Amino acid sequence: MEQLSDEIVGYLLNLIEIPSYKYPEGPNKAMEYINVTLAKEDVNTSLFESGGLKNLVVEVGQGSQRVVINTHLDVVPESEKSRCKGTVKDGKVYGRGSADAKAAAAVMVSLIIKLLKNESILTKKAIFEFVSDEEVSGENGTGALVSKYPADWCIFGEPMDGNRICYGSKAIFSQKLTFHGIPGHGSRPWEGKNAILCAAKFITNLTSQELFDYETLGKEATTVTPSIIRGGTKINQIPELCELKVDVRRPATVSEEEILVAFEKSMKDIDCEILRETTSRVPPVYTDPNSELVQTLVKETEKVVGEKPELYIATGSSDAVFYAPTGVQVVEFGPRGKNWHGPEEYVEIQGLLDWYQIIHNLLTT
Ligand SMILES: [Zn+2]
Repeated sequence: MEQLSDEIVGYLLNLIEIPSYKYPEGPNKAMEYINVTLAKEDVNTSLFESGGLKNLVVEVGQGSQRVVINTHLDVVPESEKSRCKGTVKDGKVYGRGSADAKAAAAVMVSLIIKLLKNESILTKKAIFEFVSDEEVSGENGTGALVSKYPADWCIFGEPMDGNRICYGSKAIFSQKLTFHGIPGHGSRPWEGKNAILCAAKFITNLTSQELFDYETLGKEATTVTPSIIRGGTKINQIPELCELKVDVRRPATVSEEEILVAFEKSMKDIDCEILRETTSRVPPVYTDPNSELVQTLVKETEKVVGEKPELYIATGSSDAVFYAPTGVQVVEFGPRGKNWHGPEEYVEIQGLLDWYQIIHNLLTT
């Protein structure tokens, strides 16, 4: 176990050193590192380039059930307290990308080498995907691989904040509203229609709709966050126009229609002409918590970690959005860590070993 731990941590430290937030050379260099490391062990890899970015795939085993294990090598920019310089302390590996998502990459390298030496123990076909652009769009990474590598099960090695498995993520359904009032002199508000006041009333109406009451419904509810507002041009003029953008996140269980009904209700009795348009739409990801993939992972995790994992829906999305529409069972599930995208990002070394064992068990039983 100690040898395996040293091996995985070694790969991880080398990966963290590569500043893979500079596209395309950063992720490409990290991809080259994986390629060279695997080539030294006589592993056959397939390299795919899309939009100047490299992606790497390794297939192991022959089973009819196809399991994609995917991670990304790009990271968000380093900061003073999360540098592209790995350090080991108190059973944790620190550094930018240590958790998100070079942790899974380091474990995957060890797994590939181990499994290829004893390929006959695999009961499923494993497809290991390393991609370059999850933090920006995913289109030249997972987006470019999905049609080449169909799957039955799909595991995205995103870091987990504790003993958890993510079986879905919310959809994005962002809206823009334009309020048209009637201008007039600021000293005589009764003579015009104030577009800013119309927007203010709308915001109050919208955020008090039951559908968006996450305090009662929980964090898995649909959320509306007014995030950008622009209106008015002069201090002494009643504003004619006000533009409002609302970030909307819905779980797969709430439809776009239900959300639009709540928007319409919030627009009622507002004394301005209002135009509404959808500005951004990303589909939700949802795999039944009782599906075979989730239940197998729950069972294997409980065996390895000693406790049942918590199942949850993520508020943000990942590359899983590319595989979800193909009808696969898909989860986000990677090694345990904390503070990704923030200061003092780290992964637990025991989390790396547990994830190794769980994925190993999943592929061989
Ligand atoms: Zn990530």
